[in-house]
Amino acid sequence: MRASLAIGVDVGGTKIAAAVVNRDAETVRLLRTFTPQDSSDSIVSAIGGLVEDLLSSDEISGLRPPVGLGVPAQVDFGAQKILFCTNLPLEGGDVVGDLTERLGLPVVMDNDANLAALAETRLGAASGCTDVVCLTLGTGIGGGLVLNGRLYRGSLGTGAELGHIVIERDGPECACGARGCLEALAAGPALARNARAAIRKHPESLLATLTGADPVDVTGEIVAEAAKKGDAVAIALLEEVGNVLGRAMASLANVLNPQVFVIGGGMIEAGDLILEPARKTLSECAMQGVLPGLRIVPAALGNNAGYLGAAVLAFEHFDEGG
Ligand SMILES: [Zn+2]
Repeated sequence: MRASLAIGVDVGGTKIAAAVVNRDAETVRLLRTFTPQDSSDSIVSAIGGLVEDLLSSDEISGLRPPVGLGVPAQVDFGAQKILFCTNLPLEGGDVVGDLTERLGLPVVMDNDANLAALAETRLGAASGCTDVVCLTLGTGIGGGLVLNGRLYRGSLGTGAELGHIVIERDGPECACGARGCLEALAAGPALARNARAAIRKHPESLLATLTGADPVDVTGEIVAEAAKKGDAVAIALLEEVGNVLGRAMASLANVLNPQVFVIGGGMIEAGDLILEPARKTLSECAMQGVLPGLRIVPAALGNNAGYLGAAVLAFEHFDEGG
């Protein structure tokens, strides 16, 4: 029987969100808690507690909704195991097994950026599209691919790591161990690193003034604020992020011929200051045949994309018989 409700859980670096979602993608009930940082067991226990609280509510009592779970980790989807996680101690634990046992409900897990892509495609900025590339710009760069209307994960279920496309041969070291990845050049820490260098070079800039005495304190938000006020140094920093993104998108467009790139994550607050240079570089670098109709748009679902995508995955995965 098709479930009428699903539970979507989004495990973030600092917070866990868990929600009951219906077939119309309406959030029936949403709960949040802080993410324990000490062990996989504590994280499982926090997720289990949230889901049990949701199950005790009137709307859901007596039902057995499937649970979708998004984690900030590289996931082997076929084996439902976490392979690689830089921000939380999730490697090695059997999160899905432990949760299934505790809750007595079907549980399916995926990488959070895949789920954001699924949510944006079914419900958000790419509604109605079948071929979508989603990039989430924050502390890292997450990637998700929807091809022919379905999430594409590759042969082992570990692919779509779009943040780790190598852009610059001898570029800065990346969290994955390689050098010059998109993430190492254009994510939040890279922007902050470039901003510190720019502040030392241009102590007279508005960016330097907004940062205060110590350029170590510079953040992406401060760069965006200075750029919106017209500071040329800050504008150039965001333009560089856009250029790097545009180059990566040109390669992705040449390979995948998507209808739309959806760009989400905290850094997208800077809006067109990043997206305009990205559009320009994309149109300059991609092959002409992939460009007609191709759009770059900001994500529409914000922080809710994670749990909504997890709920959509739970519906679709278990509709198909798991
Ligand atoms: Zn990398």
